[in-house]
Amino acid sequence: MFPPPPRPPADALTPARLVTHEHFTPGDHVVIIKGAFRGELVGQEMTVVAPSWHTPTDEAGWRLRNPRGGEHSYVTAHPRYMIHTDRYCPDCTGFFRSLSQALLPRMPESQQTVDGGWYYQTTLDQLVHTADLGNSR
Ligand SMILES: [Zn+2]
Repeated sequence: MFPPPPRPPADALTPARLVTHEHFTPGDHVVIIKGAFRGELVGQEMTVVAPSWHTPTDEAGWRLRNPRGGEHSYVTAHPRYMIHTDRYCPDCTGFFRSLSQALLPRMPESQQTVDGGWYYQTTLDQLVHTADLGNSR
């Protein structure tokens, strides 16, 4: 028997993150961390558009625009998935650092981007953290 290929660690930090809906405003640039590339966490960079109900968690979320999203340019995300990129934000920077420390040492080695498998996109373009999937009907 061969050992199973190394798998990305579960992201236990995002589901436990405390951040208010008001922490974000339309026009903000944010990133949602999807994986890692050469020792750094990487993700999808998007722009905050408008408040939007996040049905999977039944909580207030944000509608985001992904410039490279094609047919799925608009997604709805929960605030705790989002990290500011356009300005120095102590809260988001601290969270990004914790996330890096928790996940990077356990990411499989690769010369390519490793998808962490932490998010799922529904057919209604709602972005859901895998830890939040159990909450949806
Ligand atoms: Zn922030």
